[in-house]
Amino acid sequence: MGIIKLLTPEISNKIAAGEVVERPVSVVKEFVENALDAGAKNITVEVKNAGVSYIRVTDDGCGIAPEDIDMAFLRHSTSKISSAEDLSSIKSLGFRGEALAAIASVSSIDLFTRRRGDSSGILAKVNGGAVTYKTETGCNFGTSIIVKDLFYNVPARLKFLKSNKTEYGYISDIVERLALSNSSVSFRFISDGKQKLFTQGDGSDLSVIYSVYGSDYSKFSAPVDYRDGSICVRGFVGGRQLSRPNRSFQTVFLNSRYIKSKLVTDAVEEACKTKIMVSRYPFFVIYIELDSTMADINVHPSKLQAKFSDENFVYNSVYFAVKSAFENFAESVNEICSHIDTSCSGQKNLNISSVCNTANVSSSYSDFIQGESEAKLRMPLVGDIDLSVFDGSTVSDMNLVTDSASELYDKLEDSAPCQPELQINSQLSYQSDEDNFKIIGQVFDSYILAEKGSNLVMIDQHACHERKFYEQISNESLPQLNQLLLIPVTVMLSKTEAALVEKYMDDLFSVGFDMEFIGENAVIIRQIPSNITSGDVKDTFLAILGEVSCGSHKLSFKEKLIERLSCRSAVKANKKLSEDEMRSLVSWAFSVRNADTCPHGRPVYHIFTKYDIEKIFKRV
Ligand code: ADP
Ligand code: MG
Repeated sequence: MGIIKLLTPEISNKIAAGEVVERPVSVVKEFVENALDAGAKNITVEVKNAGVSYIRVTDDGCGIAPEDIDMAFLRHSTSKISSAEDLSSIKSLGFRGEALAAIASVSSIDLFTRRRGDSSGILAKVNGGAVTYKTETGCNFGTSIIVKDLFYNVPARLKFLKSNKTEYGYISDIVERLALSNSSVSFRFISDGKQKLFTQGDGSDLSVIYSVYGSDYSKFSAPVDYRDGSICVRGFVGGRQLSRPNRSFQTVFLNSRYIKSKLVTDAVEEACKTKIMVSRYPFFVIYIELDSTMADINVHPSKLQAKFSDENFVYNSVYFAVKSAFENFAESVNEICSHIDTSCSGQKNLNISSVCNTANVSSSYSDFIQGESEAKLRMPLVGDIDLSVFDGSTVSDMNLVTDSASELYDKLEDSAPCQPELQINSQLSYQSDEDNFKIIGQVFDSYILAEKGSNLVMIDQHACHERKFYEQISNESLPQLNQLLLIPVTVMLSKTEAALVEKYMDDLFSVGFDMEFIGENAVIIRQIPSNITSGDVKDTFLAILGEVSCGSHKLSFKEKLIERLSCRSAVKANKKLSEDEMRSLVSWAFSVRNADTCPHGRPVYHIFTKYDIEKIFKRV
């Protein structure tokens, strides 16, 4: 008995209306979706001339009953929904019952179909929207549908098509995405007789990523796996090395359906923000499974858009899923080097990229915090004393504080009971007995060279220091070490600056500035973040305020503040460092898992293996 029914006008009117066939890719998409809905395990897409002259999609799905064939080509005929209630919990890719009718009206179609259990198949020819010929035929189980001469009767739409290259690009893109969302289905894509894509259909998302994007993307992407009540976020995301100049390598699936979602894209990009440089975009394939009552995909005829009933919930889930993916995937330089060394002992032909992770964010700061507790007490500073930014400078800093300054400090402390406790040395001192690296020196006063096992690691001193500060300031669980000023500084503000300070007083306080308005356009600053090490407090404060107010729109005020503070406080390029200073920085960079990029996504270090170097000198 047939299963395809005509939807009543009451139901069809509730479906977002619109034409689905604009170009060859629309045909491919609709046919493949039908094949998937039919439960196919193997799908072959063949196109000629970018689909304009020929499109064939063959599947091994359930096939169509002979008595359903005429009905299938009628508008609003579908086997997938039958009541208006079904619309709120759509599980199939199709449900509008329009595609075959729409495609048939602008092309000639040959349909071969055979259900399992049927002794023979059916060949139907459809012209101008109506089935004109039907006969029994021998064919495989499943359905093979061929479209010839697309838009032969609508020349305007033919004219509207772009170049073959562009139309081909659209098709290959959609086939890749459909393959990515269905790893248990084997896809074969053939264009003008050449196989362009083959996926195993072995149920592994990574195996499809390998087929679609190549081995680097399957090896170096961080796996995403997050579940929270009614949502599950899976997939893969790439760090700096896999980033792209545009968003073409970004894919989101909602309940196995490819969608375009600014909300999801924003959440992923936000989570990757400090891993990837401005104007680069992360690679990702994200699969979201969400209770279908919490997402509506019947927003637009293309079914590419989704409306979430709880946008914050989806955004936060995706954000945390990606953040923790990086955390779990990250490796420190120490770990990477020891992997290289282990692999090198047995294997000569080693490529550094095959052992380095591409994405690193650390969640573990135990060593880091331990270093903090060893920091020495430092007396308050007078105004703009230029501190060295490294641990080795602590003792000499102490010498700068005079007796009278210390008395002054006592008074200040008494008079300001609610001020934050005087903090100890703010510098991130990291000491480890396992520092088994050798500092070779500094190059161009900007890069530190260190030997670690059989690797030479080159570190960008500014990028590294910037990341170190960034982690300290932005990690709320770390004690924030601020400097009480011996002599509070009064800063006159413009109206805009005053408004900014008033609005973001809490954010300024949370990063270490403690101040109070005296009058409408002036503040008295009593405490500054300890990382501010150079220049005049007043100038620095105003400069930071200026930079933050015109920085990226994507970041919150506090994020911009942290970013600016880290950048300003970090040691610059072209600055000579002592061995202790270098050691302190390298020790930190090697042991934490998030030192691979500065907060702007620039690389912090590069590892040259011994093998890389010996290759240059033709020793291997
Ligand atoms: P929809 O997919 O929205 O239901 P279509 O116009 O794409 O509408 O298809 C109409 C009907 O034809 C489907 O509901 C399905 O029953 C049947 N059909 C189309 N393609 C296939 C296929 N490859 N295998 C099995 N049945 C199919
Ligand atoms: Mg369909």
